[in-house]
Amino acid sequence: MKTVYTFVPSPNHLYPDHPERPGRLEFLQPRLESFAAGLIETISATREEIAYVHNPKVVSALERVCREEAPGIIDYAPTYVTQSSFEDALLAAGGVLTCARAVVNGEAKNAFAIVRPPGHHAEPDRPMGFCIFNNIAIAARDALAHGLERVAVIDYDAHHGNGTQAAFLNDERIAFLSVHQYGAGFYPGTGWIDEAPHAKKRIVNVPLPAYAGDQVYEQVADQVFAPFVESFQPQLILISVGFDAHWSDPITMLGLSTAGYLMLAKKVVTLAEGCCSGKIVFVLEGGYDPINVANGAETVFIAETGQRASAVNDPSPRQEPDCSSRIEEVRNWHGFS
Ligand SMILES: [Zn+2]
Repeated sequence: MKTVYTFVPSPNHLYPDHPERPGRLEFLQPRLESFAAGLIETISATREEIAYVHNPKVVSALERVCREEAPGIIDYAPTYVTQSSFEDALLAAGGVLTCARAVVNGEAKNAFAIVRPPGHHAEPDRPMGFCIFNNIAIAARDALAHGLERVAVIDYDAHHGNGTQAAFLNDERIAFLSVHQYGAGFYPGTGWIDEAPHAKKRIVNVPLPAYAGDQVYEQVADQVFAPFVESFQPQLILISVGFDAHWSDPITMLGLSTAGYLMLAKKVVTLAEGCCSGKIVFVLEGGYDPINVANGAETVFIAETGQRASAVNDPSPRQEPDCSSRIEEVRNWHGFS
C-alpha cells in the first residue's frame, strides 16, 4: 500500500495583500512529483457532508454572500471570500474526505490532503480565521459515519484549532489535541489548558510561549501526544498540520525548524502505527512562507513514505524558553502520567 495525496490549490481564492494566498503553494507544487506518493482525484464535498459539522443555514448564507457580494471580507481575522470561494471550499473539504476515505477503506497506507482554504478555525456556526469550512472536522465525522468509533485529531498549526475544538466539545467519539502559541494579542486567543474541564484527556490544549521550538515540541510529543493517543485509542489519527510554527513564518513567533517538523511528523506516524495500523491523514492548515510550506510538506511525505531524509538545515536563531513546568501543568490537569 502506498501514500496518497490530494492537491486543491484554489487559484481563484485570493485577496489583495492577504497572507492566505495561492502563492503559499508555489514552491511545493513543482516538488510534488518528487515524493513517493500518488495523487488521487478530489471530489467536492456535498452539502450533506458539510452539514456533519456546519449549520446548513450558515452554509446557505455563505453561498449567497459568495454569489452576490464577493469579493469581500466576512470576519475580522480577516477572512475573505471571492466568487469562487464557496466551490473552492467544497473542493478543499472534499480533498480531505477523499484522503481519509482512502485510508479508512484500506486503499492507501496513509495520506496528505494539501488543500486551501484551510479549516481549523471555522466553527460550526461561522467561518473564521482564513477558514471557510472545517475540513478536518468534516472528515472526522465522515469517518464515524463510515463505521469508525473513535477518531483523534492532533493540531500542530501555530494557532489554536478553535473551530475543531468547538465542533467536538461534546462529541465523545472524537478526541482533539492542539499545541499552539498563546499570549497577549495572539490569534485567536483561545486554547488555554482548562477550557474543557468536562473532557479531560479528550480535549487537550498545550499553549506555548513565543520561540518554543524543536526541543519544546519534542517534549510535547513525548509527554502529551503519546499519553493522549494511548488513553483514547483512536482507530484513525488526523493531523492539522500548519507550517506557521516555523521560526521564519511572517505572522507568528514560534521556533520550529524543518528538522523539528520532521521529528513531529515521524512521532505522529509512529503513534498511528502503535494504535491504528498506521492509519493517519495529514491535512494542511496554515503556513505563510512558501519555502517553509514546501519544506514542511516534504517532512510529512518523508515520515509517511519512509523516503530519504530531508537535507534542509534551518535551525532557529533564537533561544528556546524552558516549557517543562507548562507541560507538567498540562499533564497534571489531564491526569496523564
Ligand atoms: Zn495557523
